Amino acid sequence: MAQKSILVVEDEADILELIRFNLAREGYRVSGVEDGETALARAFEKPPDLVVLDLMLPGINGLDVCRALRADPRTAITPIVMLTARTEEADVVAGLELGADDYITKPFSPRVLAARIRAVLRRRRESRAPEDETVKVHDLVISPQRHEVRLRGKAIELTATEFKLLHFLARHPGWVFTRDQIVDRVRGEDYAVTERSVDVQVVGLRRKLGAAAAYIETVRGVGYRFKE
Ligand code: CA
Repeated sequence: MAQKSILVVEDEADILELIRFNLAREGYRVSGVEDGETALARAFEKPPDLVVLDLMLPGINGLDVCRALRADPRTAITPIVMLTARTEEADVVAGLELGADDYITKPFSPRVLAARIRAVLRRRRESRAPEDETVKVHDLVISPQRHEVRLRGKAIELTATEFKLLHFLARHPGWVFTRDQIVDRVRGEDYAVTERSVDVQVVGLRRKLGAAAAYIETVRGVGYRFKE
């Protein structure tokens, strides 16, 4: 398989070097730039297979870089992993809503970053299950056609909204979704879904899932994720 190329955008030289060194050792072709303008020029000229994007950059910030990448057809679907500080939860939410694929909080271990990158590249290759397809994940079987959820063979009764929420999250194991993204995808027929009510739906869903409740993970300050 051809070597994957990764563009790393990070203004802190030592962090950039650390990432560059470790990703090169993992077999990626890595190029590093220190500001958003150069990142966009480089990405448009020769779109990389993935972008590692620090959010706090001099000049145009990471969120604007993310927005510009998504808006251009050359990089509209290029995977983006954001680098953030622990205090930037609101930016993480904004970045995910702009279409970034994942994020990692500083300080991070290079090994964790490499694992996250592998996961994001792998997910991009797999075609996602269509909306009406039965999802089998862990010990759950979710069948939209029959509107049925079974946990180890035993049926679980869910409301229409809970069902949609579970099916949506379970179709994308490992992906973090913000409440707003969930509202967008899960339009309730029996319930007006709002950002706040997503939390209420999750509480109800977890209660009914019992032993499988832990599959729906809360990502603090960001949203929810189905356990990979
Ligand atoms: Ca920075």
